[in-house]
Amino acid sequence: MRATIMYRAGDVRVENVPDATLKQPTDALVRVTRACICGSDLWPYHDLEPTEKGRRMGHEAIGVVEAVGTAVRQVKRGDFVVMPFAFSDGSCPFCREGLQTSCEQGGFFGSSEGVGGAQAEAIRIPFADGTLFVLPVGEDHALAASLLTLSDVMGTGHHAAVSARVAPGKRVAVVGDGAVGLCGVIAAKRLGAEQIIILGRHPDRIALAKQFGATDVVSERGEEAVERVREITGGFGAHSVLESVGTEPAMLTAIDITRPGGAIGRVGVPHYSGMEAWGSTFYKNITISGGPAPVRAYIEQLLPDVLEGRIEPGRVFDRTIGIDEVPDGYRAMDERKAIKVMVKA
Ligand SMILES: [Zn+2]
Repeated sequence: MRATIMYRAGDVRVENVPDATLKQPTDALVRVTRACICGSDLWPYHDLEPTEKGRRMGHEAIGVVEAVGTAVRQVKRGDFVVMPFAFSDGSCPFCREGLQTSCEQGGFFGSSEGVGGAQAEAIRIPFADGTLFVLPVGEDHALAASLLTLSDVMGTGHHAAVSARVAPGKRVAVVGDGAVGLCGVIAAKRLGAEQIIILGRHPDRIALAKQFGATDVVSERGEEAVERVREITGGFGAHSVLESVGTEPAMLTAIDITRPGGAIGRVGVPHYSGMEAWGSTFYKNITISGGPAPVRAYIEQLLPDVLEGRIEPGRVFDRTIGIDEVPDGYRAMDERKAIKVMVKA
């Protein structure tokens, strides 16, 4: 089968690899109908140390179950499923509490040892019953692009909003105009935010953010952005700030634009450690929450809104490619020529 392998920063290839197979009785084998490239895939694209074996890429997919192990009870051959970016057993204390990304037996597709990537023709799914969400529609559904976002990007945007305590009447700011930030706008609107400020500067992304419900745009950076947000929030900053980038400047901006007593939901994979402004979060009573989104828990909540057309997160995909064009897809996203790239079988 064809699969995407990264060998070093900037070196992504699509190669023939041994077919994915069942290894454990709790596994399922999924034929990938749609996958995509994540903003977080761009981190190794910039800094992966050379590796001879290479790293299997991709952690977002929808597809059809081709086979299940003998211990799989709920998922059946032929089911159309969402594959969350993390696999989880569905039974440990964290899974039962809806934090599947902390599953005691869990891990992440495309980075955990022995688990493949989703930018491939097929993938082995550990703990199929806990991991997979069976969709009530068929693989040719018109909303397939939006269904695909439930594997990561929409669930992650939602997690940022929930972690930032978005609620009716709140003033919300979204740091980052990538696909996750845009889904954060959708999530904030869905949760009843009164004002949604997007911090970003790419015209195509801003246009989409406005269609998703952003009420204000701040295209300045750094101190100027902070002042501008204060100005348009009545002088105090936002109640809820969604941080979807993961860099130190983005996090510092997030801290500075959060009003006292407010909350930050961070979902950008952190590429910072300690930072000078940390102290101000104490004196402003700012809650900092967030982390890897338990998207498995959110699919059920978000699915009706997708199927009934109330939210259209699939619109973040502005380019569709075949599996062999995946390297071009990375390049397009890296050069900001595409917001998010979908890989269609
Ligand atoms: Zn678990």
